[in-house]
Amino acid sequence: MAVKDHVNFEQFMAGVERRNPHQTEFVQAVREVAEDIFEFIADKEKYHEFQILRRIAEPDRVISFRVCWEDDKGNIRVQRGWRVQNNNSIGPYKGGLRFHPSVNESVLKFLAFEQTFKNSLTGLPMGGAKGGANFNPKGKSEHEIMRFCQSFMTELYRHVGADVDVPAGDIGVGAREIGFMFGQYKRITNQFTGVLTGKGLEYGGSLVRTEATGYGAVYFLDNMLKHRGNDIVGKTAVISGAGNVATHAAEKILQLGGKVVTLSDSQGFIHDPDGMTQEKIDWVKHQKTVVRGSLSDYLKEFKGARWYAGDRPWGVTCDVALPCATQNELNGNDARKLIENGCIAVCEGANMPTDLDGMRVFKEAGICFAPGKASNAGGVAVSGLEMSQNSERLSWDEATLQDRLRSIMRGIHDRCLEYGEKEDGTVDYVRGANIAGFVKVADAMIAYGVV
Ligand code: NDP
Repeated sequence: MAVKDHVNFEQFMAGVERRNPHQTEFVQAVREVAEDIFEFIADKEKYHEFQILRRIAEPDRVISFRVCWEDDKGNIRVQRGWRVQNNNSIGPYKGGLRFHPSVNESVLKFLAFEQTFKNSLTGLPMGGAKGGANFNPKGKSEHEIMRFCQSFMTELYRHVGADVDVPAGDIGVGAREIGFMFGQYKRITNQFTGVLTGKGLEYGGSLVRTEATGYGAVYFLDNMLKHRGNDIVGKTAVISGAGNVATHAAEKILQLGGKVVTLSDSQGFIHDPDGMTQEKIDWVKHQKTVVRGSLSDYLKEFKGARWYAGDRPWGVTCDVALPCATQNELNGNDARKLIENGCIAVCEGANMPTDLDGMRVFKEAGICFAPGKASNAGGVAVSGLEMSQNSERLSWDEATLQDRLRSIMRGIHDRCLEYGEKEDGTVDYVRGANIAGFVKVADAMIAYGVV
């Protein structure tokens, strides 16, 4: 067979930029993955011939819709909702829903693209998707949240299903919102199926799902450190975020013998040099999920801490750092500060929290760096197990799920080693995760031919 002409990496990226104008987050995410994939497929004709990367970087479909709802004063409000179904080669589409004013098509396309590789890495049969709305849940009453979720699902229901696309939570979407959306789906379709994950335990949810992303990230960190003959005991951790991922990461660091000295929210960060206890972490969870107030109130509750308004915690001295808030929250300067202060490992709990410059700094410094698509996959993995339990109409016990989570995180770590371990024994986890995630999806796509 004749060898066809192939585009090189820069030509490929120029095409991605041309086709996705102003979608900076999406282009950034594709660039980060494509760099490694191009090198890997240089001598692998079949991946070129089938245009695999070009096809993964074009979502199967982007659904955009209007969401109308009525606020407590009777005003009609209009939001925009989306579902980006990126790729379902290895299983039904799967990925969270985000409600945040910063949500737009670029952000959701980047998240759906990343999700495709992450879900593949878990070893479970799940494709990649993401969705959400530019809706700000902050300051809304319970009834307003309910009306919004119901209106959102009134359109979304026709695009999802237990064997089609199974959304979950993300920023701004927790157990409460999942409950409202599941209730509306059930009302419209008259079907009780596993169409969403992150459900309450009373109606098909899974034990350990709430904790899974944060716990899983810390298991991944532990695996990285152990691979270098080290561990978490006695290590000082700097964590950003104060939501689901951050608080559970903090809890697991504590359980494994480490010390957590920071958490943050969108207003600033708290530095507690004495270290956080379980009581302090429980207060943060309550403050964020029940009171829905500022993290700065921590000072009123606990002595010895300081609040840094409008700042991020990367200047605080630590051994390990876990960015667990949002995308692009750690740049090159932040990365340099962390290295100067002696940080030996960075483990992403959030999706793409480190920008490309920050990643370069970590790579050059040779420290352990875990990209979110590998290290925060514990959440979607237990979501996958929630789908299995729903299909069986059974609920597994906590010990089984904790064991499965631990072994899935070890499996992801080892898959990263397969493609990321270098001759000198160090590991490029970014490359390892990108390639391991790619290969499974790519081989399935080749099996299907051109579809
Ligand atoms: P939550 O909504 O529970 O918490 C998000 C936290 O990040 C809050 O403390 C919030 O502050 C802060 N935050 C949000 N946006 C910004 C911003 N623009 N600047 C500074 N701080 C911000 O979300 P999760 O913990 O669920 O998600 C956190 C990250 O982890 C996201 O990147 C998400 O995609 C990723 N992730 C989550 C998974 C999950 O299972 N939940 C699974 C895999 C990845 P405030 O309280 O002030 O709003």
